[in-house]
Amino acid sequence: MNVTFLGTAAAEGVPQLWCRCEYCQIVRQRGGKSIRFRTATLINDDLLIDAGPDLSPAAARLGVDLAAVRALLITHPHYDHLEPDSLRARGRYWDGTALPPLTVYASRASLDLLGHGADLGALQMEPRPIAPFQRFEISTGGAAVVDPRVPRAADFPATPVRWYEVWTLAAEHSLPEDEAMLFVIRQTAGPEAREGATGATLFYGTDTGPFPEATWAALDRLAVQGVRCGAVVIDATFGTGKNLKQPGAHLTIRQMVQHQQSLARRGLLTDNAQRLAIHFSHYFTPPHDELLALLAPDEITPAYDGLTITVS
Ligand SMILES: [Zn+2]
Ligand SMILES: [Zn+2]
Ligand SMILES: [Zn+2]
Repeated sequence: MNVTFLGTAAAEGVPQLWCRCEYCQIVRQRGGKSIRFRTATLINDDLLIDAGPDLSPAAARLGVDLAAVRALLITHPHYDHLEPDSLRARGRYWDGTALPPLTVYASRASLDLLGHGADLGALQMEPRPIAPFQRFEISTGGAAVVDPRVPRAADFPATPVRWYEVWTLAAEHSLPEDEAMLFVIRQTAGPEAREGATGATLFYGTDTGPFPEATWAALDRLAVQGVRCGAVVIDATFGTGKNLKQPGAHLTIRQMVQHQQSLARRGLLTDNAQRLAIHFSHYFTPPHDELLALLAPDEITPAYDGLTITVS
């Protein structure tokens, strides 16, 4: 399973365009990996996590397109993770490539937001409400089903069939009715899946404070079932911050490390699991090279825009 980070910044992006703080000024001079768009992640080429306001420039910068994406998972309805405009571009006002349909897996609050900003049917998007503490399967690929409103949909080439198993967990973030979620995603079939293997598994935990007790309990149950993650990505928005105004909404680097260690202790990680952090803020996080050094002693890598990891 290949995981590509399209964006790795917190809500304001890095650098923040209205800011001249020390970090923002250094980032503007250096560019490269220190420039971060708002957080979004692509699994293989057909499963997208979040669709925020930077999806278009992020994909353009990395030279990728999202035409083969068949499933979209939304973590929560904050504007940096769900911007209906970025999905409106699926519309075909003139000609352009035909598109296969897209199923959107999101909480009711996220789907309400999406429905206000876009005519889902016309964009070939099918909403599928989900909530924390569920398990479901996603299938992607194959031949595109012809939508009579979009005659050229049949032109979209068949793509590899993949299956994913997804477990949703509650994040400690946002209003309770937003149902912010963390995901455990296991690829069970597709060209990347190995014969006889249980499936590459990713723990995806952005936009969360210290995990709720019920989430730890659900994770313990997954460990008993034999779920082992080959990669873990966890929120580190509050970086080196101290005296935070809303301490529970995100994690500091120290707390992120503790969560990684706790997942390992509870038996949820493979022996050589890749450990990463994401969702960085200009307020609390130094530019990429300094951040790399800061996380190195704990063997954690800061994700950066354009990084692709292969999870096994
Ligand atoms: Zn966010
Ligand atoms: Zn700044
Ligand atoms: Zn958020």
